[in-house]
Order: sequence, then structure tokens, then C-alpha cells
Amino acid sequence: MFDVNKIRKDFPILSRQVNGKPLVYFDNAATSQTPQQVIDVIVDYYSNYNANIHRGVHTLSQEATDKYEAARLTIQQHFNAKHAYEIILTSGTTHSINLVANGFATLLQKGDELIVSALEHHSNIVPWQMLCEKTGAILKVIPMTLEGELDMNVYTKLLSEKTKLVFVNHISNALGTINPIATIIKQAHQVGAAVLIDGAQACPHIKPDIQALDVDFYVTSAHKICGPTGVGMLYGKEEWLNKMQPYQGGGEMIDQVSFEKTTYAGLPHKFEAGTPNICGGIAFGAAIDYMNAIGFDQIATYEHELLEYGTKKLLEIEGLKIYGTSKNKTSVISFNVDGIHPYDVGTLLDKMGIAVRTGHHCAQPIMDFYNIPGTIRASFAFYNTKAEIDALVEGVKKAKMMLS
Ligand code: PMP
Repeated sequence: MFDVNKIRKDFPILSRQVNGKPLVYFDNAATSQTPQQVIDVIVDYYSNYNANIHRGVHTLSQEATDKYEAARLTIQQHFNAKHAYEIILTSGTTHSINLVANGFATLLQKGDELIVSALEHHSNIVPWQMLCEKTGAILKVIPMTLEGELDMNVYTKLLSEKTKLVFVNHISNALGTINPIATIIKQAHQVGAAVLIDGAQACPHIKPDIQALDVDFYVTSAHKICGPTGVGMLYGKEEWLNKMQPYQGGGEMIDQVSFEKTTYAGLPHKFEAGTPNICGGIAFGAAIDYMNAIGFDQIATYEHELLEYGTKKLLEIEGLKIYGTSKNKTSVISFNVDGIHPYDVGTLLDKMGIAVRTGHHCAQPIMDFYNIPGTIRASFAFYNTKAEIDALVEGVKKAKMMLS
């Protein structure tokens, strides 16, 4: 059974104090906290088998290689990818998107069209703008509605035989909206376009099924799902990964090197130049095991309860407005208090031990759409509690009193 008090004991950081108050950590959409089970894996790596992988004959290197490749299998199984070699380990979502954007440079022609959505994080906008500058491809935007949903009627109209790639996040980091990615993928495939889904915000809440979605690329970061920073994944369909040129050259990614000609290694190594984040990759696997042991159905049910409770309680505060009111959303509440700058509220909340994010959340187009400088974002994880939400509500009331 889901027992939040027992789960909280797994996270040492949750028992610390901040500014003399018990920490209330509501910045989970920026990065999640790390359970002892994952910390132990990191300590074990550096204590017992720290070595470079794929090249040593010695025992430590073999142990590290086995654990790293076992993590790749864990990731493959978790996401239900067809082959382990379709999982490229990267430094995170941003790296994965840049890898695909660079890989497409030789596959596009002037006048080809790419489709992005109005709900994206900057890391799913800027690499594509750079690609458009390089290739002469044109970027089209699926607009958003006031509720913070994608306007799917416009999406259908934007698609044509000129469309080569569509890239949309599974869940918006700024608003929490869950996008209809199955429909987006199906419709893109009908015109022959490939689809990249940015799963950075989805993976803490949902277990995506890559084969059922029939998605071409799916990317995420380990640090959003109780793993360490600096590691993540790119799932790519074998046929696409084979068509794409590698983005970085170096050791590990080659077959044969001479000054006349270099040939590349097969998948996944072709896209994994240099010494990877070995410990991070192993800990990524451990984080997935940890989350699965709790269970994504249990996590979703509990977080939905937190979302409903938090939404109701916060809306009782006069002058508080929530941005992103879709019925399909995860446990993210982005809000402002009338006449008060979000940064000031965030600063006062920190004095009370409450960690929220304030600002544009790397999604400036969304803030421009609402004509606001930013929001206060409280994002809940499965280890948060209703009592912590009560502390947030009291904190916002206090901040409002002090700042009005
Ligand atoms: N996309 C989304 C939707 C995100 O929330 C984030 C992280 N805030 C990123 C991309 C970038 O992830 P990373 O910084 O781990 O590369």
C-alpha cells in the first residue's frame, strides 16, 4: 500500500531544515530529490568499482561495463523500447534534443517544415531554431488556448507533406498540461513526419510505452525521476538513428580510425562519444527501479489527490489566479497573486522553508501569451503531503499580507 510517511524516510533531504523551518520541497518540476536507495548505488560505484567502461580487460572495468549496460536494459524495459541499442545515454533532455537536431541537419532541405508547440521549454525550441538557420527549414507553431492546452484544430491544418518533424512535450513544465501525444504522433505519421516527444516532465508521473505510442524519438532526464543530474536518454527508432549523422566525434563512437577515413561504431555507441557519466547511468537505472517499486499507478493517484487539494486550497486565497486549467494535467500549480511580483512571493516563501520556482520556467512564449513576467510554480511529487500544501497556503497568505 502507498504509505507517504514510509516513502519520506527514503529521502534524507526531506528531514532537513531551511531557514529554521522544516523543508517543504515544491520544486520537483525543476529537479526531484534522491532516495537513499539511489544514493547508495552512487556511493557503491565510487567505493567499489569506479573504472572506465567498454575498453578494459580488468575486473573493475568489466563490473562497471556490466552494470552500465544492465542500466540500459532497465531503461529499455521501463519505456518498452524494442531494442536496447535504441537507448542512447546522454547528459539529459537538452543534450538528447540537440543530438537529434544536429542529426537532422543532413536530412532536411530548404523549405521543409518543422512543427513545435507554444507550450515548449526553451530546450525544445532553440536547438530547432538553430537547425532552421542551418538548413533553411521553416518552424511552425501549434498555438495554445487560455486553459493552457494545444489547439489541435490548428495542428491538423499545419500538417502537410512538407512537414518533416514535429516536437512537442508530453507534459508542460510551466503549466502541467498533459498533451495528446498519441493523436499528435498518429496524425504526423499520416503525412510522413517524424515525432520527438520531450518527456522530461512526464517521466516522474507516467510510464510511457514507446512501442504503443509508435514514437520516433522520446527524450528525458534522470534527475526528474529521483536520479542524478547530468544523465538522461534519447530513445530513437533504429531506422532514424541509422539515418542520422553523429553529432560528436571521439573515442567510443568509432569502428576504425585512420587519417584517410573513419568509420563509426554501431548503435548505440555511434552517438556516445567519450567517457560517459558511468555512475550516473547506473544510478538512472536504480532510480527507475525505485520508482517502479512504488508503482506509477499509485504515484498518479496520490499526486492527483495532492493536485486537487492544492488547487482548491490555493483558490480560496483572494486575488490568486492559476495558469493552466486543463482537466488533463499533472501535479503542477502555476499561479500569481494579484499585484505582487512572483519573485517577491518566492523569496518570502523561502524564508519559511518552502521551495518553489518563480519566473518564466524556461518557457518565455507561455508567459508572453498570458502577458505576465512569470509565475510562482509549486510542483508536487509523490513524497509530498497535504500538510505541506497547508504550509504553502499559509505562507502565500502571509506573503500577500506583507507585500500588499
Ligand atoms: N524539457 C522540459 C519540459 C523540462 O521541464 C526540462 C527541465 N526543466 C527540460 C526540457 C530540460 O531538461 P535538462 O535541463 O535536464 O536537460
